[in-house]
Amino acid sequence: MSRLLDIKNLSVSFVSGEETVRAVTDVSFDLCEDEVLTLVGETGCGKSIIAHAISGLLPPEALVSGEIRYKEKDLQSIPEEERVLLRGCEIGIVLQNPSRALNPLYTIGHQIRETILRHTEKSKEESNRMVAGALRRMGFSDPGIEMKRYPFESSGGMNQRFVIASSTILSPDLLIADEPTTGLDRSRIQDVITEFERIMEEEEMAIILITHDLAVARRLADRIGIMYAGEVVEMGDANRIFEEPYHPYTKGLFGSLPENGCVPIPGVSPPMSRIVSGCRFHPRCGKRTAVCERDHPQLGMIDDRYVRCHLCHSQ
Ligand code: SF4
Ligand code: MG
Repeated sequence: MSRLLDIKNLSVSFVSGEETVRAVTDVSFDLCEDEVLTLVGETGCGKSIIAHAISGLLPPEALVSGEIRYKEKDLQSIPEEERVLLRGCEIGIVLQNPSRALNPLYTIGHQIRETILRHTEKSKEESNRMVAGALRRMGFSDPGIEMKRYPFESSGGMNQRFVIASSTILSPDLLIADEPTTGLDRSRIQDVITEFERIMEEEEMAIILITHDLAVARRLADRIGIMYAGEVVEMGDANRIFEEPYHPYTKGLFGSLPENGCVPIPGVSPPMSRIVSGCRFHPRCGKRTAVCERDHPQLGMIDDRYVRCHLCHSQ
């Protein structure tokens, strides 16, 4: 499998009033063709910011440092027109707020069809057939009706599924999906999972899936990255990490699942504007020692994965 995406030392900050919000700190990972990487972590841990950074949707001054390479191209230095073309065709994007991705003035059918007509030589009739097929896969039994709807005539969950249908219809090489199942009921979540499984089975598409739903992550991920307070704290093969998490935060996150007794992690994540000395997780970690409060742990390899924890590295 060849490498599709390479992110090196990405840091993202915003100035908000008097404060600097450090949303993402020194995140590096790569992604191969056909691979599914999920990023998980609590709200505000920086995972959506990574999706925005790869999608080219952040103001340039927010990217403090780092490099994002897609097929060897530095995404930050390509011209805007090329970036727009990539976004429509090679990189599919499903962001958290579906209503922002849809134009309120056009019907759903028109909008998805336009994506096809803009980037391919397909006829209107053929495009309509493709739109109907994509909507059917998203659980709409009568696509003809849905195609005539305007976004404001549909629920948030329906719009979410329209955006997924639109983002995947041209089989992009990379799909970035930020919380694609949030706001959907059980059966609709199943439709989205089934569609992702079909894509994984039938299409050459790499996926970055951002989710706080660990059940969805477990089902779909090849590799998983656990994020806390803007940093990756554990990353590796998803099955291995679900079987045996190493980092105390990962253990806490998995411990909060219903099948593990719903034990919450005590405390809350620090605000991104406050720098926590030492390990960013130390105020909430039952395993902390003096070194954890003083020294910031580096992300280093242990066995088959990367882990950011003094204790794990000393054992
Ligand atoms: Fe806990 Fe220390 Fe590891 Fe941080 S470095 S997760 S405080 S044991
Ligand atoms: Mg595949």
